[in-house]
Amino acid sequence: MNCPYCLSTLFTQLKRTTNLGYDIFHGHSCQRDYNERTGTPFNLIEVPTDIVFEVLLCRVRYKLSYRDVAEYFLFRGFEFTHETVRDWQERFLPLFTEQIRSKPQGKIGKIGKIWKTYVRVQGE
Ligand SMILES: [Zn+2]
Repeated sequence: MNCPYCLSTLFTQLKRTTNLGYDIFHGHSCQRDYNERTGTPFNLIEVPTDIVFEVLLCRVRYKLSYRDVAEYFLFRGFEFTHETVRDWQERFLPLFTEQIRSKPQGKIGKIGKIWKTYVRVQGE
């Protein structure tokens, strides 16, 4: 993982993690600490990136309302408002659709299925 500040490949992984459970790295060249979200649009979001993706999935795939999505994730221990859901949709949905469209489709056929998913809950 290159340093997002100076692009150096010289770093040390620190023993501590962020509040959300992301590993922290220390760049040797610039002497700055960073994690995998540093320098990305998700840097200051207070929930893990995969939760933001799940929120967008609930909106787009399952057509849940902003309030229903916020209530559903409250049951899972993530507290944010329906306005936050709306904000995330405006900010991040174009990023996710761009990411999905840029992925190769594979060779198994025209329809692919996702059998497993990875969800980070309280850092684990
Ligand atoms: Zn650096």
